[in-house]
Amino acid sequence: MGKIRVYELAKKLGVSSKKLIEVLEDLNVEIRNHMSTLDDETAELIYEMLSEEKKVRNKDDIKKTKEYKTQEEIRVENKIKDKNKKGDKRIIIPDKISIKDLGEKINIEPSKIIKELFEEGIIATINQQISKKDASRIAKKYGFEVVLQDDKEIDNTIDTIDINDIEDQEQEENFVNRPPIVTVMGHVDHGKTSLLDAIRKANVTASEAGGITQHIGAYQVTINGKKIVFLDTPGHEAFTEMRARGAKVTDVAVLVVAADDGVMPQTIEAINHAKAANIPIIVAINKIDKPNANPDRVKQQLSEYGLIPEDWGGDTVCVPVSAINKKGINTLLEMILLVAEMCELKANPKTNAVGTIIEAKLDKGRGPVATVIVQKGTLYIGDAIVAGTAYGRVRAMIDDKGKRLKEAGPSVPVEVLGLSDVPNAGDLLYTVKDEKLARQIAEKRKEKQKESELKQANQKVTLDKLFQK
Ligand code: GDP
Ligand code: MG
Repeated sequence: MGKIRVYELAKKLGVSSKKLIEVLEDLNVEIRNHMSTLDDETAELIYEMLSEEKKVRNKDDIKKTKEYKTQEEIRVENKIKDKNKKGDKRIIIPDKISIKDLGEKINIEPSKIIKELFEEGIIATINQQISKKDASRIAKKYGFEVVLQDDKEIDNTIDTIDINDIEDQEQEENFVNRPPIVTVMGHVDHGKTSLLDAIRKANVTASEAGGITQHIGAYQVTINGKKIVFLDTPGHEAFTEMRARGAKVTDVAVLVVAADDGVMPQTIEAINHAKAANIPIIVAINKIDKPNANPDRVKQQLSEYGLIPEDWGGDTVCVPVSAINKKGINTLLEMILLVAEMCELKANPKTNAVGTIIEAKLDKGRGPVATVIVQKGTLYIGDAIVAGTAYGRVRAMIDDKGKRLKEAGPSVPVEVLGLSDVPNAGDLLYTVKDEKLARQIAEKRKEKQKESELKQANQKVTLDKLFQK
């Protein structure tokens, strides 16, 4: 492919530079902007990866893609036909052409062309090759339209079609509602773990695998026939770490505030995190069973931080609950659904899977085990996957009820077996063409990681030197 600039590669791939830059950043490829140059190997890898991503596995999608391609082809054809109607004066000129050949193409005597060129200050003989630029200029003088030859140039002829728009339109039909993903946050001892337990238990039905839930880092509950996904790692450690890694997983934050203790430092921290992530906050005023519980004081304090309760004329939903007595749990779940509905959470299940690692560990018997929340597309057994510097093939998927799954769609948390390594929480996981490519991407990332670690180490050495007396 040779050296290529980011925007050139984007064009080749039919994606926006912005999208490509996002992907590059995710791959830890150091670039400054769309004018930055990529090395051969990187460009090749990205090209393979992204052109693969555009392919679709689902029959419907294949059909649609065909239609879409035909449409695109038809538009190009029509445009060319239109041009032909204007007296069929359309010609293709190669990079270099002799004056004789050009004369034949445009039906003008070579001597005339030689004269034209001479007047422009170019001295040429009949068998001499002239450049495409010069030839085009002459042809245009005689009313010809020069049509360009290779694919890239044909692209230019369809500049009225924005490929990205078509993709979006196509995907829009495939978008379906997805369950909200919820994080529980709040001050230590205010009852995050207890609340997560209460929610989980309140919802386990007898039909669900004996009612036992496994800890996989996230779980699903069903209320009024609708699903909600809870991240099972209380506290904002996980949330903060994932956000620091650029992961956007959470749709709604449940802020737990103990009614007997009120707003505390970590409550404020949690509010700030949720605000920074731009996600709605629902307040669970917990421990209302306690004799010294004072929900009004909590509401008063929350108002000071910009969370004005609904019953005080604001728009913050506050639900009094008791994780111990299981009071208010259903109301809380209903409120989560209500708030989530307003967010119109949608995803396209009919595309290659992209998800985020929620947690990961090395299991003695099973090897690296990673919990993933699929955010778009559908993950299937056998898919080649990359997550951070880990790669592999989906060997098995297990949900929070211990059930083995063959596929996992948007918002479904699953344990994934088959990775080469233990990825980090917050790493993006996605499918690629085959395991070979997955390995190449992972190895490339590892190299980059090593390089930057080395750089950091070197920097430290230099700094140490600098401050040595
Ligand atoms: P976390 O640190 O936020 O995860 O809080 P925990 O869930 O560990 O709860 C801290 C303490 O508060 C535990 O002793 C719980 O039993 C207690 N607790 C949690 N929820 C309630 C509640 O609704 N009512 C009462 N009375 N105690 C609660
Ligand atoms: Mg806890």
